[in-house]
Amino acid sequence: MEILKIKNLSKTFSSEGKSLKVLDNISFTVEKGASVALVGPSGSGKTTLLGLCAGLDRTSTGEVYLNNELINHLSEDDRAAIRNQHVGFIFQNFQLLPTLTAIENVMVPLELRGEKNSKATAEALLEKVGLNNRADHYPSQLSGGEQQRIAIARAFSNNPSILFADEPTGNLDSETSEKIVKLLFDLNKEAGTTLIMVTHDLELAAKTQRIIRIKGGNLISDEKTA
Ligand code: ADP
Repeated sequence: MEILKIKNLSKTFSSEGKSLKVLDNISFTVEKGASVALVGPSGSGKTTLLGLCAGLDRTSTGEVYLNNELINHLSEDDRAAIRNQHVGFIFQNFQLLPTLTAIENVMVPLELRGEKNSKATAEALLEKVGLNNRADHYPSQLSGGEQQRIAIARAFSNNPSILFADEPTGNLDSETSEKIVKLLFDLNKEAGTTLIMVTHDLELAAKTQRIIRIKGGNLISDEKTA
């Protein structure tokens, strides 16, 4: 079953009277439960594409279907509602809220969803990523790997059917990266969560089932890994 379908997607950014086409006529589909890596040179449009697939932004032209629902034309509020329901997103550089503790960061999306037992649920999520002993620490008191694990716990708080990760190991040392990668793939296998990640790490990309290469805003190859 398809969970994501992108059809003839293009994106142009406009500022100060100039327009820049960063994605040009991209099409692909992703099956439920799959793992996919988006790779390509810096500036080629990967982060923009990931955000459009997740409904963080609207396409200029083309269509994005998430769980068979066309989302690219929806308002920000409607896309936010779809994201809350289906999508987990791990941002580059973690993007934790600095004034909230680890557990409070995980509780934010739970409370936005009106979840009654948000604290207990957040504790269970922190346990899953092995960080229940850091619940009351602030992001500045945590290592990069710990912050990334909090970001993963937060991304999983709505039990997403699809998880997008932008350079999930980008700022981590190799030992910590390995732990984070294991965690992501364990969640992909255990919960059947579809995993789509942007990475410049070709070893990590090779661990996914499929590699999509983007160059200069174009999809230049889409291949299964061995
Ligand atoms: P990658 O993730 O492959 O490094 P990005 O998707 O971040 O590439 O960026 C692709 C291009 O789009 C870059 O030239 C970048 O400067 C431009 N870009 C990204 N976001 C915006 C924006 N909000 N406004 C204008 N240009 C943008």
